Amino acid sequence: MISSFVRSVKQLGYFLYGYANGWRSARYSHVALARLQQQRFRRLKLRVLRHSPFYAALGDQPLQAFPVMDKAAFLANFNDINTCGLSLAACQAHALQAEQQRDFTPLLNGVAVGLSSGTSGRRGVFLTRPQEQAEWAGYIIAKNLPLTLRRQRVALLLRSNNALYEASDGILLSFRFFDLTLPVAEWQAQLAAFQPDIVIAPAQVLGVIAAAALNITPTKIISVAEVLEPDVRQRIEQQFSCRVNEIYQCTEGYLASTCRFGRLHLNEDIVIIEKHWTDKASGRFSPVITDLRRRTLPLVRFKLDDILQLDPSPCPCGSALTALKKIEGRCDDSLWFLTHSGHWQPVFPDVVRRAMMLCSEVVSDYRIQQHGSKLRVFLQTTQADIAQRSVEGALQDLAQSQQLTLPQLEFTLQITESLSEKCRRVACLHKPVLQPSEYRESTYD
Ligand SMILES: [Zn+2]
Repeated sequence: MISSFVRSVKQLGYFLYGYANGWRSARYSHVALARLQQQRFRRLKLRVLRHSPFYAALGDQPLQAFPVMDKAAFLANFNDINTCGLSLAACQAHALQAEQQRDFTPLLNGVAVGLSSGTSGRRGVFLTRPQEQAEWAGYIIAKNLPLTLRRQRVALLLRSNNALYEASDGILLSFRFFDLTLPVAEWQAQLAAFQPDIVIAPAQVLGVIAAAALNITPTKIISVAEVLEPDVRQRIEQQFSCRVNEIYQCTEGYLASTCRFGRLHLNEDIVIIEKHWTDKASGRFSPVITDLRRRTLPLVRFKLDDILQLDPSPCPCGSALTALKKIEGRCDDSLWFLTHSGHWQPVFPDVVRRAMMLCSEVVSDYRIQQHGSKLRVFLQTTQADIAQRSVEGALQDLAQSQQLTLPQLEFTLQITESLSEKCRRVACLHKPVLQPSEYRESTYD
């Protein structure tokens, strides 16, 4: 009894600490932010990394001395990176069992184990202790959810339950998780009965809610986990007469959220984000993240597969946190077109999506997948001929504008996918075979 009370008080302490951090986040000057990052990285080395067999030998060295890790390297060294002596095999078995039983509450040696929602390759494993979750929840709430005197109902329509939010269920916010693996009609009826004030869901799911014209009146809508495309955003905002905010959060961390002026800012007070440039001229980069507050499974110079685009113009909110124009999707989702000299060249997913916005209105939805030297195009339409001609025309124009040759197209007049899978309108499933000269050199900033 006493021990559970002490635990609750401690949890509340971590939550309030996170909340205070989130509240201060946008108020640092550039100088204060740089100093804060240095102090927090130093503290991370002293308090966390020295307990990690993988990092202990690096001692107090500067960040640049630490190796950049991709997912494969990270998983290969998982047993030595984590600070609680857990093996990858044990964690994977535990997480899979939780997913199969749809029960995410059991802990493994006091640690919550989650799987990342990878769409290809091996799924990542992530570990958090309850105190990390409480701190993280406080931070997210301070940055995104308005606290009012009336208890607000928050609907979470996520692909796997997130102990993070449930950790902060309390007097001012009431969280309810809706299981997207249930039939659509079932969770929609539950959602209508819940009458949420705040809805948090992936963009694709928000689109489905808007299209179903459910009788709900949220005052805040937050899109997570997927690229929010302009047409989807517009549809949702029209349906609910309220702005859609974005949280850029993945299993690897909480990386950015929208400010009151609707711009995305990186959370550089809790994560150091180095830029691995994919196209410096247009400001496109993949983030290499160092999480300053993770204690159970440290993430140091972890390279994500996403493409972000910088927004060089200052934001009226005055925050020193870097602003983004958008999150474009995964690097792996660039399509590959041939140059006139016969080399494959990447075309960014965002550029493809913009080209597709110019298609005829009879194309109500689409998916484009690269399979080697071919593009498979899946269409939802009632007028197949017009739709196909229009898509072919849009992609031809795109290829010509970049002086490239469009790969061969194969059309399918159907889209089949489940809401419980991550939605990618543009995806590269199999890259064409590339010459070594077609890979870009890596540069960091
Ligand atoms: Zn701003």
